[in-house]
Amino acid sequence: MDYEAFFNQSLDDLRGEGRYRIFAELERRAGNYPKAKWHKDDGADEVTVWCSNDYLGMGQHPVVLDAIHETLDSCGAGAGGTRNIAGTTHQHVQLERELADLHGKESALLFTSGYVSNWAALGTLGAKIPNVVILSDAGNHASMIEGIRHSRAERQVFAHNDWRDLDRRLAALDKDRPKLVAFESVYSMDGDIAPIAEILDVCEAHGAMSYIDEVHAVGLYGPRGGGVAEREGLMDRITVIEGTLGKAYGVLGGYIAASTALCDFVRSFASGFIFTTALPPALAAGAAASIRHLKESEAERQGQRDRVATVRARLMAVGIPMMDNDSHIIPVMVGNPVHCKQISDWLLEEYRIYVQPINYPTVPRGTERLRITPSPVHSAEDIDRLVDALSEIWSRCALSRVSAAA
Ligand code: PMP
Repeated sequence: MDYEAFFNQSLDDLRGEGRYRIFAELERRAGNYPKAKWHKDDGADEVTVWCSNDYLGMGQHPVVLDAIHETLDSCGAGAGGTRNIAGTTHQHVQLERELADLHGKESALLFTSGYVSNWAALGTLGAKIPNVVILSDAGNHASMIEGIRHSRAERQVFAHNDWRDLDRRLAALDKDRPKLVAFESVYSMDGDIAPIAEILDVCEAHGAMSYIDEVHAVGLYGPRGGGVAEREGLMDRITVIEGTLGKAYGVLGGYIAASTALCDFVRSFASGFIFTTALPPALAAGAAASIRHLKESEAERQGQRDRVATVRARLMAVGIPMMDNDSHIIPVMVGNPVHCKQISDWLLEEYRIYVQPINYPTVPRGTERLRITPSPVHSAEDIDRLVDALSEIWSRCALSRVSAAA
């Protein structure tokens, strides 16, 4: 086989479909978010970032940076080993306590990312619980799907957010068979929110464990940032709450929070936990500082809610089509991969606004979009410039608008 020719042909195919990904090379500048330096072939320029998952700007918050600096200076860079062998530092243990407290659970277990936490936890539960069936929401993230696949457990996919379909499927299973229901709270690309209470009712009626991914919700929802389940008073009914430290908390890492027995079980069997170097202690300390801050402070969440409402209202007023939802994620619908990429390029090159295009396979074909994530640090002027730019581009391409009056 001509391997190089194969690689190049595959990449050309992606380009032909408008799906070839080009990443903007950003240099984040502490204290300057949502501005960043955009490096290109002929120099660098300042851009406004509108698609970051540093949802609250905590990645540059002094409380977080101070904790990282202090721990870096006192403890050094790396953890020095896997959690099993020399890599369990005081900072990891403290962070796990902070996370267990955040979710009102007995224990928590840290991983190097949210992806790894889903992959390892679901992979282990699915592989090790004899004869378990995993019921997975059709909209679940790749990390959950890969974890379930990796486990080789029997899997059923239930219709997205459809607790009635889930109920029917659970009812059809042998009542003594172990069952695990895996779903998310805020779905990242549509920004829709699961009917968590109804799903839990169904799980409880059929004796199923529940596993919720709150990656796009922790830090952002609930009085202490415990996620949508905290906001709705449901955390104690959920078997496993999974989250990330890399989005609203602004750092890196993933975790599960659950009973002591379940966390200890995953800790003891999950290769994705056991056989990889632990997070640097400074990052664990930074994440813990971020969690502590957002347990107390509502200002960031309120600021974000205000910006989201303003951006939505302003885009609606000029007829830019958006997917409706009740979250902080604003999907601006384009519906064509080539247009989506072109709009993103124009925003960056002409307006210095960075919104990465979201194309298949991240979203279904025909639903290509720009995913806009307002943060508390976007200014009124940033919002004006975003809305004007999108409106001008919509006119230039004669893209259809929704009725502003509707
Ligand atoms: N779950 C969901 C729903 C996600 O969207 C993502 C990342 N985008 C992850 C898990 C993985 O989290 P992390 O980025 O911390 O690996």
